Amino acid sequence: METPTIADKTWFIDVEYKGYDRLIACGVLETDAGLLLVDPGPTVSLATLEAGLEAQGASFADVHGLFLTHIHLDHAGATGVIVDTYPHVQVYVHRRGARHMINPERLLASAQRIYGDLMDVLWGAFLPTPEANVHMLDGGETLEIGGRVFEVAYTPGHAIHHVSYLDRATGTAFIGDTAGMRVMGVPYVVPVTPPPDIHVETWHESIDLLRAWQPDRLFVTHFGPSDDVAWHLDEIARRLDEWAEQVRQSLLDGREDDARARAFHNVEMAVMKAVLDPSVRTPYEQMGQPEASWYGLARYWRKFATADERG
Ligand SMILES: [Zn+2]
Repeated sequence: METPTIADKTWFIDVEYKGYDRLIACGVLETDAGLLLVDPGPTVSLATLEAGLEAQGASFADVHGLFLTHIHLDHAGATGVIVDTYPHVQVYVHRRGARHMINPERLLASAQRIYGDLMDVLWGAFLPTPEANVHMLDGGETLEIGGRVFEVAYTPGHAIHHVSYLDRATGTAFIGDTAGMRVMGVPYVVPVTPPPDIHVETWHESIDLLRAWQPDRLFVTHFGPSDDVAWHLDEIARRLDEWAEQVRQSLLDGREDDARARAFHNVEMAVMKAVLDPSVRTPYEQMGQPEASWYGLARYWRKFATADERG
């Protein structure tokens, strides 16, 4: 079990989602009040997360709280199950996501529509989080927990309830999906733009906000830390616009949506295969989901673009 160190008292666990490495990373921060976990991942990979803690001589009994960047199942799915077993665990989440953690019926119904019978296999159980454990964030606050200080920013674009956390002492920004998917050490960034919240302009504002933080390091959930912050943020901004434009063009081609999404997927998967070394292809193939991202950007154009922009 690998538990790489990012900085002083800061490390992460590969939860080995679906048995693959480098798909979902959970950040771990040591504080005097206990451990903080940034995005615990889904319930199906909870045993691996637990093993990662044990490898460092820790357990969930030592966890003070969960910093959720957003409530999508690949980031926050295990939250309710963790709190059910360890009722002392505190949950930090944006206000607009908090209500779905407390009352997950709507969240689960919409996930059920997407994943159907695969819900249990892909994600596992999702339990409600008791309101008493939930700390609602708006962005802009400073959290002081066990001698460590974290700045919180509201970073929508990928999800309307997305926040990012800056640990100023180590210069590490935990930014969920705001800088897309990028496997640590690989100079290739893939936007993650599934329905229903994608909004290109606010996403750019979120990227600008991360730039203004001037972090030394970005930590993305998919997957891990990177130190070339300026390049990474420029690249997600460029790739987001590139994908948005490709999807906008595809909406003018007279085909059905499933054909458009499939074509976009095939082109992007072929590009990945061409540019990526075989040793890093699997995480991109498993987590980069161009087909789902096509639907997210198509929804964005149909909902928000002016008639002029739609062509
Ligand atoms: Zn994600």
